Amino acid sequence: MTVQEIVSGEPAGPRLLRGGPIAAEVREAVAADVVAFREVHGFSPALAVVIVGRDAPSTVYLHKILDGCRSVGIVDRLVELPEDSGPARVAAAITGLNDDPTVAGIIVQMPLPPAIPLRTVIDVLDPAKDIDGIHPLNAGLLALGYEGFLPATAHAAVEILKRSGIELEGRRAVVIGRSNIVGKPAALLLLREHATVTICHSRTVDLARQVRDAEIVIVAVGRPGLITGEMLRPGAVVVDVGINVRDGRIVGDVDAASAASVVSAIAPVPGGVGPLTNAILLTHLMRAARNQAEGRVALGSRSMAPTPPMESAR
Ligand code: NAP
Repeated sequence: MTVQEIVSGEPAGPRLLRGGPIAAEVREAVAADVVAFREVHGFSPALAVVIVGRDAPSTVYLHKILDGCRSVGIVDRLVELPEDSGPARVAAAITGLNDDPTVAGIIVQMPLPPAIPLRTVIDVLDPAKDIDGIHPLNAGLLALGYEGFLPATAHAAVEILKRSGIELEGRRAVVIGRSNIVGKPAALLLLREHATVTICHSRTVDLARQVRDAEIVIVAVGRPGLITGEMLRPGAVVVDVGINVRDGRIVGDVDAASAASVVSAIAPVPGGVGPLTNAILLTHLMRAARNQAEGRVALGSRSMAPTPPMESAR
């Protein structure tokens, strides 16, 4: 606590929406879920991670996922393929995991080497095991308001708002970035929560004008300092998803110094969405495991009957 906080009784600066404590709660619930699953079905489900080649940043990220699995009793399976693997070898590895009834979820680490088009993965990946929501079937389910698998980062970006008690219904939200794994699904999730959503991207004319109107801002671009305090509406709630390295430090897309005196709350980088993403992924894995074990999905068949529309489906 700073002197200013003690004197005024008010915390200085915006409320920090930290992912770590929320992630710890989520992991605790998943660990209990794994125990219950094992009691009923007699085995712990596995998450398989496929990596092609040895991209150093990806490898660090992967090991965090695998450590997260072990910490809650989920079996972790690392499938490492050499950099020069052709599409057929990658496809065969994924097909083998599709057909393995102990593997509930599969993640293929991106980016893939240039010789492996994304289509190689999508053509074979079982949507029922696609726990990071990269398959078009899951993207379509999200777009139509059905319960598919969401990209974990987008899910975490919206979950951090919900679990922090930030009201979304009827609020004006701007999502900056329109990638299939972050921006677009985050915007659809905000829409599902009944926010009024604008999506901005590299061709948006006058980004500052769009941002100035927003009560909720999710930024997922990958450009340090893109969003400054001057662009933001006083009292806005900001979720920074960007991950950039500047002067040897990890920073987000928001200029934290200038934003601090303007916004009411911010999920910062580091410490916001990042720590929650892997915990959210584990919840997806357990849902996939239950679906498969309870016969809601024919194992390995690549058939996935959509569950009934959510209450909010439109
Ligand atoms: P991406 O595929 O490169 O997409 C970036 C998006 O930003 C694109 O839609 C692009 O627009 C838009 N954009 C680029 N320059 C812009 C500008 N000047 N103004 C407005 N929009 C602009 O990146 P991504 O995979 O979505 O990732 C976004 C960021 O999130 C990255 O920093 C990444 O490292 C980070 N990330 C974090 C996590 C986590 O767990 N926290 C996970 C994944 C990614 P166009 O579509 O017009 O090109």
